[in-house]
Amino acid sequence: MPLGLEPLGHDTIVGWLREQDPAALERLWSRADAVRAAHVGNAVHLRGLIEISNHCVRLCLYCGIRACSEGVTRYRMTAEEILACAREAKRLGYGTVVMQSGEDPGLTREFVAGVIRAIKAETGLAMTLSLGEREDDDLGAWKEAGADRFLLRFETSDPELYRRIHPSLPGTVSNRVAQLLRMREIGYEIGSGVMVGIPGQTWDVLARDIELFRDLDIDMIGIGPFLPSPRTPLGGDGAERLCASDEEQVPNDELTTLKVVALTRLLCPEANLPSTTALSTLDPATGRELGLLRGANIVMPNVTPPEYRVLYEIYPGKASIHETAQVSIERRIRAIGRHVGTGPGGRKRP
Ligand code: SAM
Repeated sequence: MPLGLEPLGHDTIVGWLREQDPAALERLWSRADAVRAAHVGNAVHLRGLIEISNHCVRLCLYCGIRACSEGVTRYRMTAEEILACAREAKRLGYGTVVMQSGEDPGLTREFVAGVIRAIKAETGLAMTLSLGEREDDDLGAWKEAGADRFLLRFETSDPELYRRIHPSLPGTVSNRVAQLLRMREIGYEIGSGVMVGIPGQTWDVLARDIELFRDLDIDMIGIGPFLPSPRTPLGGDGAERLCASDEEQVPNDELTTLKVVALTRLLCPEANLPSTTALSTLDPATGRELGLLRGANIVMPNVTPPEYRVLYEIYPGKASIHETAQVSIERRIRAIGRHVGTGPGGRKRP
């Protein structure tokens, strides 16, 4: 299969996603790694992740903290607790903090803006938000307060699958692509992403997801395997009913996730790509490194206090639950011939 510098067409992407020959895949890995080195270099930027609330009004079929999940103890961190995490990220030398939560109206416009201002004033760190679907006035106020980036995965490019796995709230129509475009206009760097192997995801749809990253010129792209949570409709026995045929259903495995990372690097050479926590949950021994070796250039160590981290259980066995932010991350990065980046590590444009 030809894999040159020319743009990869849809059928070629599908072909690579289905490729099983280890020798052929070696060519994909080395091409993706070369493109990563040429366009974003050898620095691995660290972003300190703060999971500020696990309250959520949504009913996403895949997510363990969805509104109706039973047995979830809900929490919302105070401004002082969040600020303490940002200080820790700064102390550890990270250039960015990411504030993530369920979709939580209890995180009001004023509260979040105040926290952003306080973190900016005290640490000067770059700030990424990942707080779900919010009104433009919230997004504008947070940008004005100093936020730099916003992560909102579109989850799938297939409108029908999206409606099924990510129900709209009553009286609204969820449109994450539209929010991404508005956020870019407001001045955010925009991040998005998908889960690999969600029930109902076909090879064709997954190839279109990667093409949509390119078409939207997404600045940061998070790609992780779908990890079933027994608390959710997609985690139980019934989930099989929602799967495509055996021939067409994408598996939620490590190899396929790595292929998506590598192909995304080829189609979006300048983007920042994290080696995700979900990938290292699937393969705690080497998942993080394999992501970095097949196109990724970002790691997001968790700096949430451990007592909250265990409650932010979007899927079971999350790799970061027991890791202390600093343990071995730098050593592991150096061991694969890379180094930790300094500064905010934002999207570089040619
Ligand atoms: N509420 C915000 C939102 O929806 O964008 C941010 C938090 S949400 C938990 C972050 C991401 O976690 C989602 O976009 C989804 O892709 C991922 N996620 C949720 N459940 C997952 C699962 N079971 N396996 C893998 N990833 C999952």
